Amino acid sequence: MSVWDELVGQAQVVATFQAAAAGARPQVPTAAMSHAWLVTGPPGSGRSTAALAFAAALECTGAEPGCGQCEGCRQTLAGTHPDVVRLATDRMIITIDEVKSLIEQAGRMPWQGRWRIILVEDADRMDERTTNVLLKSIEEPPPYTVWLLCTPSSEDVLPTIRSRCRLVRLCVPSAQAVADLLVKRDGAEPQLALRAARASQSHIGLARHLAKDEGAWERRRALMSAPISLRSVGDAVFAAADLLEQAEKEAEAASTARDAQEKAALIRTLGLEGESRIPPAMRGQIKALEDNQKRRAKRAVTDVLDRAMVDLLSFYRDVLSRQLGSQLDSVNLDLEKEIAQVAAGSTAEQTLARVAAVEQCRARLKTYVSPLLALESLMVQLRPQA
Ligand SMILES: [Zn+2]
Repeated sequence: MSVWDELVGQAQVVATFQAAAAGARPQVPTAAMSHAWLVTGPPGSGRSTAALAFAAALECTGAEPGCGQCEGCRQTLAGTHPDVVRLATDRMIITIDEVKSLIEQAGRMPWQGRWRIILVEDADRMDERTTNVLLKSIEEPPPYTVWLLCTPSSEDVLPTIRSRCRLVRLCVPSAQAVADLLVKRDGAEPQLALRAARASQSHIGLARHLAKDEGAWERRRALMSAPISLRSVGDAVFAAADLLEQAEKEAEAASTARDAQEKAALIRTLGLEGESRIPPAMRGQIKALEDNQKRRAKRAVTDVLDRAMVDLLSFYRDVLSRQLGSQLDSVNLDLEKEIAQVAAGSTAEQTLARVAAVEQCRARLKTYVSPLLALESLMVQLRPQA
């Protein structure tokens, strides 16, 4: 097993990172290595997984960079390597203070490995002022510092940042490649894994979710067929409230288990396992974790809703494809009846308007607009025309 195993269908990216990690080893690193990287790829293609694998390969002390066995590899992947700092924001925006703290950490000498690595998962969530603060550090980094920035596309960061980074672009893996990963890594049943990979349009996290959770298919079906039965504006308002409530429930279910696990892990790390009370000096750390978890819970709802928007888009894509008589494979094989019904009851223009409505709602959900208002307006627009 190596650190590259989870990068499905990304041979080109793996080759680039392997060459860079090998080139980073000599006393004077070769040109294959760079101090700033921009890792891009559509949501679910695994850009943060790719960046983390690269970080592991840089910290690797095994014979082959990224061996997956040595302390450097294992600690990096587990998130416990002292020289690898990872910022995965739970907020809509990365604050200037967070970036200043990263810069400060980037300046410190590595104390276990050869490189000090700063991995920023959602580098697109930075405003211009914050980006400019970051820019200086990326321009003239200390010789031991490596910045790994992840964004959906290279257009998501300012040109000034882009031009100073080496660009690595992940592609959308094939459904079969994603299915193979789910079978190999998660022990999913092959038929189900392929169905999940298709339905999620090769979004790895989503596919895993569908392959693991029977209820997820049901919720997905309910979501996509909901607009069909809307008769009035009142129905639409109801459906929006329902969708939001479902999203909140789902997000809560997902985070409750994870929150408990994280807390248990922290308590273990602090050596407090089995203790009935937490010494005052350590309460701050527990509190910080709990605050983080609360913020993440909020973002989790946004993520669930975003997924719902992607599902709706795939539904109207299938409808449009049917209306235009195209030979493309349906994404939603289990919704043939509903797709046919909507396709027959509307025109291609109407479908395009609905696609635009979903995209607009998706964009609004990422701002501070009330999610309920955004969803209400969406449902009204998806309602069948009389
Ligand atoms: Zn290693």
